[in-house]
Amino acid sequence: MRALTLTALLLATPALATPANNEWHAKAREMLKHAVEVPTVEGRNKVPELARWFGDQFKAAGWADSDIKVVPYEGAPGDKTAALIVRWPAAVKSNAKPIMLMAHLDVVEAKPSDWSMDPFTFVEKDGYYYGRGVYDIKQGATAITTALLELKANGFKPKRDIVVLFTGDEETAGNGAQLAATQWPEFKGLDFGLNSDGGGGAFAADGHDLGFSIDTAEKTYADYSFSVRDSGGHSSKPKPFNPITELSAALVRLGAYRFEPMQNETTRSYFQERQKVEKGPLGDAMRAWLANPADGKAADFIEADPGEVGLTRTRCVATMLNGGHAQNALPQLAQANVNCRIMPGVSPDAIRDELQKIAGSKVQVTRLDKNETSYASPLRPDIMKAYTDSIHVMFPNAPIIPTMAAGASDARPFRVAGTPVYGVDGLWIVVPEDMRAHGRDERIPVKAFDDNVDHWVRMITAVAK
Ligand SMILES: [Zn+2]
Repeated sequence: MRALTLTALLLATPALATPANNEWHAKAREMLKHAVEVPTVEGRNKVPELARWFGDQFKAAGWADSDIKVVPYEGAPGDKTAALIVRWPAAVKSNAKPIMLMAHLDVVEAKPSDWSMDPFTFVEKDGYYYGRGVYDIKQGATAITTALLELKANGFKPKRDIVVLFTGDEETAGNGAQLAATQWPEFKGLDFGLNSDGGGGAFAADGHDLGFSIDTAEKTYADYSFSVRDSGGHSSKPKPFNPITELSAALVRLGAYRFEPMQNETTRSYFQERQKVEKGPLGDAMRAWLANPADGKAADFIEADPGEVGLTRTRCVATMLNGGHAQNALPQLAQANVNCRIMPGVSPDAIRDELQKIAGSKVQVTRLDKNETSYASPLRPDIMKAYTDSIHVMFPNAPIIPTMAAGASDARPFRVAGTPVYGVDGLWIVVPEDMRAHGRDERIPVKAFDDNVDHWVRMITAVAK
């Protein structure tokens, strides 16, 4: 998963400049090329090979064998995948808790017939790198690896353990992150994680700087079934109670229902930044809501904006419907799927109870997954500062905007377990032209990739020195 959630924050900054000539940028390019050309798609079982290859890069750079581990595991059914775990122990014994650096090695499928080039052949053209995964998120795995190699070569001595986690099924089952967060010993007692699969910057095609986001929270995904049953009968003899009619009425009530507006530290900071550049009625609503979180009208106005939808509350929407079994029979069952994106800190069970009240006693509301409550990561000053400082080295005026993602990433099981995770990637793209994650002709600006390697060197230095 990787999606930019930035909206217009206007600030003129030159976007595309000439890449500097730098041996680490060359090394990173070579690694990215290799990574893209191993097709780590679900079911092709290529992730273990790429995980071993990244492990070998660390080994060649002087990491001990005992600090490099490729852990095979089962991803989605039939998917034999693996995670790479690399430890860089603190140079001297320290009481500081270890930190984690994250990326994933798997990519979403890409068909050559859908692309204007082979998706698994790395191409450099007109200032861009092309290939499946260059954006999501082989560039992140490569930038983190290059930064660590560069730091080691330059004699950097970490004051705390750094643990790398590259998973192999983020795009599908997410089992690697789940196992790491709950079972693998390397990830016990972490202070926090930094995820390359989140955050990053955007520029408009005219060079306007749209700002850099730092992902500090995500909504919890949950599905619910609404079902209504009856004994049925002949449709020539209708009965007062009809499951399809009853379900329809419940779904109409759901469609009109608005969950309680909520703010958290992340969304408050987000709207603080947003209102600075929103001059019109939307900006007024943001200012009113920030001043008075009980102002539901202002929250509703914000929520109605397509760029802000989902940011003021839990949202639930009917996504699938079926019912009845014959054209001339009274239905015995009518069923709908209701998909919810729940505010951090709110439990999916509590939302079930609320949905049951909306649906009424004739409708049975059931949870369809076991997803646990996700928690927003606190906006730690040390991490906010490290990220802001590093981005400002490249773009001194870029707004830094904490964001809450509507989808889930490998950060999720860690946030569920109480470990804060920050999406702090430094890659930037031109929007909307370069928003091609999971899509056709995925690409990143060469300069942005070089910038991101340098950014990770600064980030790791700031939090581990
Ligand atoms: Zn991703």
